[in-house]
Amino acid sequence: MIAAGANIDTLPFGHAFGALAPVFYTRLQPTPLPHPYLVGASADAAALVGIDPAAFDTREFIEAFTGNQLPAAAQPLSAVYSGHQFGNWAGQLGDGRAILLGDLPAPSTASPHLLEVQLKGAGPTPYSRMGDGRAVLRSSIREFLCSEAMAALGIPTSRALCVTGSDQFIMRETPETSAVATRMAPSFIRFGSFEHWFYNDRPAELKLLADHVIDRFYPALRETDNPYAALLTEVARRTAHTIAQWQAVGFMHGVMNTDNMSILGLTLDYGPFGFMEAFDARHICNHTDQQGRYSYAMQPQIGHWNCFALGQALLPLIGEVEAAQAALADYQPQYNARFGALMHAKLGLSTVQADDATLIDAMFAILQASHVDFTLFFRRLGRLRQADPGADAPLRDLFIDRAAFDAWAVQYRGRLQQEGSVDAVRELAMQATNPKYVLRNYLAQVAIEKAQNKDFTEIATLLAVLQKPFDEQPEHEHYAALPPDWASDLEVSCSS
Ligand code: AMP
Ligand code: MG
Repeated sequence: MIAAGANIDTLPFGHAFGALAPVFYTRLQPTPLPHPYLVGASADAAALVGIDPAAFDTREFIEAFTGNQLPAAAQPLSAVYSGHQFGNWAGQLGDGRAILLGDLPAPSTASPHLLEVQLKGAGPTPYSRMGDGRAVLRSSIREFLCSEAMAALGIPTSRALCVTGSDQFIMRETPETSAVATRMAPSFIRFGSFEHWFYNDRPAELKLLADHVIDRFYPALRETDNPYAALLTEVARRTAHTIAQWQAVGFMHGVMNTDNMSILGLTLDYGPFGFMEAFDARHICNHTDQQGRYSYAMQPQIGHWNCFALGQALLPLIGEVEAAQAALADYQPQYNARFGALMHAKLGLSTVQADDATLIDAMFAILQASHVDFTLFFRRLGRLRQADPGADAPLRDLFIDRAAFDAWAVQYRGRLQQEGSVDAVRELAMQATNPKYVLRNYLAQVAIEKAQNKDFTEIATLLAVLQKPFDEQPEHEHYAALPPDWASDLEVSCSS
């Protein structure tokens, strides 16, 4: 741990990824941004790597995490990877605007107790292709808030330390100011990192990368007969579980390309993501995704598809097709088991019964028919009283088709009685699993618009609310409200 008030310049960066052969990355320096200022910072994320929040407002911190004056031990580099984008092989991509500084000790995180620190938007790299290597303030704030919100929801994710901004304009659909988001994860290696070496027919590099990942993050797999097949099994399992968690909170990633899929099963590369509001299984949160490849309902299947792409890339190491197939065959059962368990928890059910799927399917059908707000539904469902249907009013009011709700509620009450559910006990359990506060698009938008006018207070307030998503926080009740009418015009696309 670093002592309170410690020097950012002496952060003890290590370089496990940088110790790989130079073919895996390019060493480079970030491109400075003029007169950066702090937009937001997460004390929770900082604590993971022993940074004292008292440092947030210092010039040293701001210059370091904008990429203007790096800590002495940083050894900046950008990694190469490839990927499938929207189902098509896209060839080489790589860190087009992300620069890794190294890894910091993070004692409270899983083994190897290290977090890599990346600057996103700190200037062009050899992998920028047509891009400028920059990120706009808007998308940086969204990534920052959502990373921390997802962590607080207990969903595997990269973390966000801070966002700094500059008045330097960059061109998107309209000119916008630029920002740098500093994010942290045990590793930023993606499925596409493996595909890169497979499609370039470089088995030696493929093996080096797989060995690096196994030795650092999955050392127990070394004891198995086929560690590479075991790696695929484990990654497929983690991916299935993470996506089950997305589905359970209504999170939609928006761009589940294989270059955005973490080899650790983390939620990675926040772009045009969204949280489900008015429920529609076909909802597409990315305006650019016209086909709906990455719609809510498609996410679990796409996760499977992506694991296939990874399996294809690992095949030269796995050896037998059957072993790869077996690993992939496990995805769906893993997903179903996790999603089922999460749905049971969301409904406050403590036993498993034969026809639970019927109850859950019927629930999704009425949510779909009435386009009910996903978060509010589960939160209010926790308040249901078995013997007092009159108390259902706030829940029932969410439905256009009240009769459909009433019919389902009869089924649900029957199911609760069957297992001898105790209202107060169930309510407590449900409020601990069904968040009251999620990052609704309009909440992010309000914070972004204020930040664009140099008022960063809303980012701090919203962050604090989202860090306790299950708490009632009555003083912040309005952050749990249905989106206002203007929110329906919000469009989020890949442009960031
Ligand atoms: P994404 O799907 O948004 O994660 O990005 C896909 C690829 O485009 C990655 O290789 C990114 O690094 C790259 N990219 C996105 N935006 C930019 C940008 N403004 N400058 C350079 N590269 C970018
Ligand atoms: Mg990406």
